Amino acid sequence: MTQSPRAEAIATVDADGWLSTATRLPSPNYEARPGAIEPTLIVVHNISLPPDDFGGDAIRDFFQNRLDHDAHPYFEQLRGMRVSAHFVIRRDGAIEQYVSCNDRAWHAGVSEFFGRERCNDFSIGIELEGSDRFAFEHAQYEALQTLVGVLAKRYPIDALAGHSDIAPGRKTDPGPHFDWPRFVRATGLSSRFFPYLNQA
Ligand SMILES: [Zn+2]
Repeated sequence: MTQSPRAEAIATVDADGWLSTATRLPSPNYEARPGAIEPTLIVVHNISLPPDDFGGDAIRDFFQNRLDHDAHPYFEQLRGMRVSAHFVIRRDGAIEQYVSCNDRAWHAGVSEFFGRERCNDFSIGIELEGSDRFAFEHAQYEALQTLVGVLAKRYPIDALAGHSDIAPGRKTDPGPHFDWPRFVRATGLSSRFFPYLNQA
């Protein structure tokens, strides 16, 4: 008997905050959420290391504090930085998880969501492997749609935002090539989940 692809694709987040279908690559860069608050915000980012270079292991190495800083001139400025996100969606749509959704990952930095600061406290960070200069892959939108659907069932998510929305002037990702209308349609979520789009 063959297993149906659909059955294989079913994703859940377990009690410990890990996605069943993700490759687990634990990062040491996290801490407990203050007051054990549950995440209510999803933040979409892009990342590539070095910028515009896709497919290597540098993101993983960076989030696990084992980047070879001598391997590329750009990496020098990352020395000593401690960064993570809950998820990275690679160009082929594969999902990697670095931090439990129950914990606080270090993805947003100085940030504010409608007056509420320290967005890392109450958000889940999803990095799309990409940059501000290139379109994202169809497989990445599909994976993101699935991931958001699972997270919205598991946690009291009430909003989604780009990193540039919560850190304007400091961050530009997910950038001009991230197709928000396409993403909104794909999630099937109502427009109230996208407060920054409503403002525009
Ligand atoms: Zn970002």
